[in-house]
Amino acid sequence: MYYTQKFEALIDIETLLNDYIDLAQYENSCKNCPNYGALYSCPPYDFDKLELLRKFTKLKIIGLQILFDKKLTGKVYSKSEISTIFCNIITPERNSFDSDLLLEEKKLNGLALYSGSCNLCQICKRKTIKPCEHPDKMRYSIESLGGDVVGLSRDYLGVNILWADKGKLPEYFLFVGGILI
Ligand code: SF4
Repeated sequence: MYYTQKFEALIDIETLLNDYIDLAQYENSCKNCPNYGALYSCPPYDFDKLELLRKFTKLKIIGLQILFDKKLTGKVYSKSEISTIFCNIITPERNSFDSDLLLEEKKLNGLALYSGSCNLCQICKRKTIKPCEHPDKMRYSIESLGGDVVGLSRDYLGVNILWADKGKLPEYFLFVGGILI
């Protein structure tokens, strides 16, 4: 039905900052997302993103590719069938990928960056102005810190990010997270 493949690469922080961080561009994209200001893992932040990144010397970029059978990619799905695929495959794989990132973070004594916004609670406590429910597990993502995930995946992992389109699954999905070390 599907199988997974992992990719890893290292980039030094100066190269990341010079070539793959664009604070204004990504903050503007985030403003168009409903999660902007609604999740603690998403901007705007009460800290300086560059200061956070400069505390580290490298980013280990980690990608998980979920490749589908031709049988699955050849079909056009209804919205509810697409949500079932997300519920049964994409979300569990994303959650397990994020858990692996936390284990790797511990091993490397770094800071994990998830492959998207934090999804640990059904409704983020930021919406009700209460403290984060799981501060020990909540992490930011590369894009939320201004990172160009599309460029990093292409240039460092050698894999392009693909999206579902018009009810069709792409050949694969790619989660991209990492560990600041
Ligand atoms: S752990 Fe819960 S409260 Fe904290 S950022 Fe994630 S969703 Fe929000």
